[in-house]
Amino acid sequence: MTNKTIMQYFEWYLPENSLHWKRTIAQAAALRESGINIVWLPPAYKGAAGAASVGYDVYDMYDLGEFSQKGTIATKYGTKEDYLAAVKALQEQGIQVLCDVVLNHRMGADDTEQVTVVEELGTNRNQDITGKQQITAWTKFNFPGRANVYSDFCWNVSHFSGTDWDESSKRNGIFRFDGKCWNRDTDTENGNYDYLMGADLDTDNPEVIAETRNWGTWYQDTVHMDGFRMDAVKHISFGFCKDWIAAMRSYANNRQKELFVVGEYWTNEIDKLTHYLDMTEHSLCLFDVPLHFRFLQAATSDGNFDMAKLYENTLTQRAPEQAVTFVDNHDTQPGQALCSFIPAWFKPIAYALILLRATGTPCVFYGDYYGIPHDNVSPVPQLTRLLKIRERYAYGAEHLFFDDSSLVGFTREGDEEHPDSGVAVLLTDKEGGSKRMYLGERFAGCRMVDALENISGTVTIEGDGWGTFSVKGGSVSVWVMELAWEYLYLNN
Ligand code: CA
Repeated sequence: MTNKTIMQYFEWYLPENSLHWKRTIAQAAALRESGINIVWLPPAYKGAAGAASVGYDVYDMYDLGEFSQKGTIATKYGTKEDYLAAVKALQEQGIQVLCDVVLNHRMGADDTEQVTVVEELGTNRNQDITGKQQITAWTKFNFPGRANVYSDFCWNVSHFSGTDWDESSKRNGIFRFDGKCWNRDTDTENGNYDYLMGADLDTDNPEVIAETRNWGTWYQDTVHMDGFRMDAVKHISFGFCKDWIAAMRSYANNRQKELFVVGEYWTNEIDKLTHYLDMTEHSLCLFDVPLHFRFLQAATSDGNFDMAKLYENTLTQRAPEQAVTFVDNHDTQPGQALCSFIPAWFKPIAYALILLRATGTPCVFYGDYYGIPHDNVSPVPQLTRLLKIRERYAYGAEHLFFDDSSLVGFTREGDEEHPDSGVAVLLTDKEGGSKRMYLGERFAGCRMVDALENISGTVTIEGDGWGTFSVKGGSVSVWVMELAWEYLYLNN
């Protein structure tokens, strides 16, 4: 068994030069070499902003950079041909590919329709603030540039529940279409958070259910991906999402594929995440958003965060099998909608935690791995080394020492399958210090060194399997066997 490690292979401000799929092909072997087993690629279909679109403003999900629409054939990331080649290049390296699926909304319609609506209060979408009124809504999608290739399905107002723009009065609002209601099984923020942006899919409409499945099977037949990252699941009927995933899995089984699925449910409230897992019969993983916010709190509290409670009420603690842990993503990076970027000093600590602990499947952010030139953000120091340590040494039983308000750590005993495996990780949000931790009796007499080179010298494990490890203030040290260190040193 090897540790699974995901990389989110994009950040928001990649250059708009349609070269990202080509970059992916060029980097595929290096990604495998660095210990990545799963790559999450950005939305690959044509967005409303054409070649400038990051991909979440979905226009045509059948246009993977193949048709002249929205002023371009290629997407921001390249052409369909490049995309398919990128997926293949990754898979040839033994890397699984997750495709980003946006089922909540559509944007950039080809034409408007006159629609009867009721306007809702933005902060409580269950409260009508007007009677029925007419607006001009962007809801007709005919995809003239594609001319019915792959699908002749055209979207109109009957396939949506609401929108936020009236073209005739040039006005924003939350407009629920007459005769439609928001899905009850969505997040309860703002009263009801079915509506997020654009033209919101009416997932109760049988034509919408059929079309999203038809597209999903076409997408599988075209791309042969290994799984999905589901966008904005808090805004989509929980039942609809569960059924869509089940339909996709059942189709994938015909080609002996098991789809790995992770959903983006953006909330700091653990009970909402566990409720979602219950409602979807635990059929997908979720990003551990509460853990991201714990990292942020710890990194911004001047050493006064209670590190003993770092994992309290996180998904890693409550549903470890379904937790995808991450430090940052394309939404939390500077300048973005959910900006909550973890300060640089804490990043190596956060990555040591997600990469070396036994629980959760970690997802490394492109912007942390390569840096974000747009905002002068440098790559996280030693991230490549932490990935190597994960791949080779972070195995076996885990012992937690989250028993102090600042100085905390954990150990992994290693296993027979991985020579020289086993690690002891010590970190602090405040002053440095040392701590006795149990690593395992088979390490008795072994000498350990800090693979991150923050502390020099060695620690010799005592006869009972305990050792006294140390760490400098505001940092992390990762202790490995001296022999293992030589491998790391020679290969980095
Ligand atoms: Ca919705």
